[in-house]
Amino acid sequence: MPKPRLARRLFTAYSVALVTVMGGCYWLSTVYMASITEEAEFERMTTTAIRLADALKQVVDVSDQEQVTRTANKLLSSNDQKFELFDFQGNRLATIIHDKLAKENEAKDDQGDALPNLKQLLDETKGGRIAKTSRYNVSKNSRLLVVAVPFSFTSTPLGALCLSVDTQQTDHILADAFKKLLIGFIVVGLFALFIGWLIALWVAKPARDLARAIKRVANGDGTEPIPRSEVAELATIAEATSMLKEKLVERGLTLGRRDIEQEAVLDSMMEGVLAVDVRQRIVGLNQAAATLMNIDINAALRQPLQSVVRNPAIRRFVLRAIDCRDPIEDDFNLTGPPKRTIRAHGTALRDPSGEGGAVIVLNDVTELERLEIVRQDFVANVSHELKTPIATIKGFAETLLDGAINDPDDNRRFLSIVAKQADRLEAIIEDLLALSRIEQSEGSGALPLEPTRITDLLAVACADCMPRAMEQGITMNITCDASLFAPVNAPLLEQAVANLIENAVKYSGTSQPISIRAGLEKVSPEGKEELAISVADYGCGIQAEHLPRLFERFYRVDKGRSRQAGGTGLGLSIVKHIVQAHGGTISVDSRPNEGSSFCLRIPCIR
Ligand code: ADP
Repeated sequence: MPKPRLARRLFTAYSVALVTVMGGCYWLSTVYMASITEEAEFERMTTTAIRLADALKQVVDVSDQEQVTRTANKLLSSNDQKFELFDFQGNRLATIIHDKLAKENEAKDDQGDALPNLKQLLDETKGGRIAKTSRYNVSKNSRLLVVAVPFSFTSTPLGALCLSVDTQQTDHILADAFKKLLIGFIVVGLFALFIGWLIALWVAKPARDLARAIKRVANGDGTEPIPRSEVAELATIAEATSMLKEKLVERGLTLGRRDIEQEAVLDSMMEGVLAVDVRQRIVGLNQAAATLMNIDINAALRQPLQSVVRNPAIRRFVLRAIDCRDPIEDDFNLTGPPKRTIRAHGTALRDPSGEGGAVIVLNDVTELERLEIVRQDFVANVSHELKTPIATIKGFAETLLDGAINDPDDNRRFLSIVAKQADRLEAIIEDLLALSRIEQSEGSGALPLEPTRITDLLAVACADCMPRAMEQGITMNITCDASLFAPVNAPLLEQAVANLIENAVKYSGTSQPISIRAGLEKVSPEGKEELAISVADYGCGIQAEHLPRLFERFYRVDKGRSRQAGGTGLGLSIVKHIVQAHGGTISVDSRPNEGSSFCLRIPCIR
């Protein structure tokens, strides 16, 4: 139900007060007018009665009705008056009626009507006083006013002269006057009501304006000022509201700033953060979490978790986090693409109002897990790689000690095997040490670079592999501008290119050419350039499934062939780290039985 408006309330109160006051005034006016009229009538009657009493003193015989009437007629002005003479015992001595009235009353024959309170009137006049009384006649709906004055011929009072008047006529006039007065009151009242309505609107307007302004503030619109009021109470409310508005604006700004800061912190976090309330509605989500769970951050906020997150394991974890007292942790596998392993930490939120929820922090541990596997593989591989030559050396050494050393055929053969395995061990350890050194300079970022003529660098790398290439009848073609200089770490880059050429020789058939190219390539419109060196062969090539892991340590496509060719499984890994130490990248393009092309790109910072 709508609440009554202030103007209507004021108007209602004003109307009630107005009607009460006007009704009271009207009632008082009528009573006062009636009493004034009665008083005036009594006054008039008293004067008439005294004059008539004086005139009748001249009449010799008061019982002579005709003489009395004649005397009286000279004095009677009104035709509704009736005089009666009584002695103090209440005996009527004479009745004097105005001619016209007498004629009318003859017909009605009501001459003998007894006067009201006659005894009391006579008693009062006996004491020389003028007495008055009145009586309401129900049948006639009029009043009878009676005035009694003492009457005497000598100094001794003889009786009382009673003058009575029927007020029917006066009452008619009075009723008429009351009616006009009532109409006047109604007209004035309606006008006053109209004025009252305008006043109520005028009085209520500041309150209405203030209410609107407060509503605007409550709705967050703080642009318009709070209206000032002349009324003390409203002025106080306006002042308080202004202060409140300022505080709200200040608080809003603080909260807004805090929100922005919080959002910035959340968005800059690598970890995904997901907050849910007790009904599992998403109340907070950062971009990292949205990306991890593959959901739209804007569409997800305020939505139930079930309708947004499809992974049932995460949903169960969130439910557990809301219910658990202590923080919980779990790992999930997200079926991508790309496939990921997520480690989640969940903590329940509790507040005094009983509302709660949970905050979930999601970490993408895919890379960590991969590195852990790589580390485990590396340890296993190193052990395995070292174990084989050591076992071989140990075996042949024992055989020799057991007597084979005296066999001129076997001892040389066995010793050459031991020497070969020792070379292998040395090669592995050298490669491992090289890797470790490169990784260190990669980590410190302090790789010394010098402008180097790239053709010279390529020539040195080719020279390293030349004996073996010549053995296989392989030709090496270098395509490089002689004036090409680039800032590189020459010894390391030589080693990288030599590794690639060595592999190309190892995994090519006899008489297959190897092409080595180098050149500068523009990579951005601003003129950034990079040095691209590619080594391409037409050898056995590599199957696609091996390409992603090719640059891992000890990763070999064909273990037997690699070992036979004297490979350590660390060559490409060394190349990758050298390129990374230069801030560059390495890529491979290979097809089985068609050949492989390795390309390394190094940014040129001039
Ligand atoms: P390795 O010492 O065994 O050659 P690398 O790290 O240099 O070790 O190479 C890793 C593996 O990649 C090799 O075992 C080989 O199977 C494959 N590989 C490298 N280069 C080539 C190439 N040019 N053609 C075919 N296979 C290659």
